[in-house]
Amino acid sequence: MLLNWLKATTIPKPGIPERRPLSATPILASFRRIVVKVGSSLLVDQTAGLLKREWLEALADDLAELHRRGADVLAVSSGSIALGRTVLKLPKGPLRLEDSQAAAAVGQIELARTWAEALGQRGITAGQILVTLNDTEERRRYLNARETIGRLLDMRAVPVINENDTVATTEIRYGDNDRLAARVATMASADLLILLSDIEGLYTAPPKDDPSARLIPVVPRITFEIEAMAGGAASELSRGGMRTKIEAGKIATTGGAHMIIADGRVRNPISRIAEGAPCTWFLTPSTPVTARKKWIAGSLEPRGTVHVDAGAARALFSGKSLLPAGVTRVEGNFDRGDCVVLRDPSGAEIGRGLVAYDAGEAGQLVGRNSRDIEAVLGVPGRAEMIHRDDMALVGE
Ligand code: GLU
Repeated sequence: MLLNWLKATTIPKPGIPERRPLSATPILASFRRIVVKVGSSLLVDQTAGLLKREWLEALADDLAELHRRGADVLAVSSGSIALGRTVLKLPKGPLRLEDSQAAAAVGQIELARTWAEALGQRGITAGQILVTLNDTEERRRYLNARETIGRLLDMRAVPVINENDTVATTEIRYGDNDRLAARVATMASADLLILLSDIEGLYTAPPKDDPSARLIPVVPRITFEIEAMAGGAASELSRGGMRTKIEAGKIATTGGAHMIIADGRVRNPISRIAEGAPCTWFLTPSTPVTARKKWIAGSLEPRGTVHVDAGAARALFSGKSLLPAGVTRVEGNFDRGDCVVLRDPSGAEIGRGLVAYDAGEAGQLVGRNSRDIEAVLGVPGRAEMIHRDDMALVGE
């Protein structure tokens, strides 16, 4: 059955509010990097406050199937606070920040262990990543987190990600894993984000209050009307209501990922989506790569210039990364992760990119072979001065 669903899925025809022909109808099997976000209310039994092990096992089957057919899989899992508060016997209802941080510290251990076991039994290695808002918003840390996620995926591991609630303070935290998952999706250049929730998708009005509310199968673009439909409701265990899901949709679709909101309260929720279960698709007009390149080309203030030789310029246009060996000179006072302009030997701008070294280090590495990086800098470093994914060339 699991094998069939990969081939069987088509998404419903575009619905309201805006009609737009879909050039290609996405099928689940066509996505190569998928972030699955699991809400607390799915993972943790609301009355007992304990993990729903069987449900997680079935989800792990779904994830293992995506993984088996070659997709990169990332899980963003909530539940640390809900689990920890049971262990610490904290009262029901909203918690003070210090208490939820303490609960997260206790619950995260169990959460990570359970994920590692569930994936491990299916032959998959899990890697825990706890991020704060700063890790995704500050460029240097963003690049670090992205690099770690990328390495784990290269090694076919499944990153299991949560907010680092134990250190995040009110002003600088996500507080909900919907937006966090969307940032992770764009950071990892994922092409699909699935938000598993306790609702089937986006309705024209909150279904609890309005019996005539209809599920919207496809949102081609997040408009003002769509935002108005979201209301503000959240369930007791999960912090994110429909509003944070729409916010997540904006982040994901601008970053080049489609997003699905689907009911996770069933067994094997991802195979259900593939079999055509009701859900809402939010479509992106772009791909992760073009979205990222647009962002690099357009929205950053370059902090320096990296001059490259003719061979390197040719290599870049054939899709290669920029290695220190192809660099002839650097200018400016840039930090690692800053945007720099790339110039060919005639001085013409050939593109822009996020540089992996600061100006001092880059200067030392000019013309050097990547094998010598450790000897030159005294510490190991990335082989590329600018990775191809971090570069937007003129005309691209
Ligand atoms: N990071 C929180 C936790 O693991 C959950 C946030 C959310 O429910 O969206 O408990």
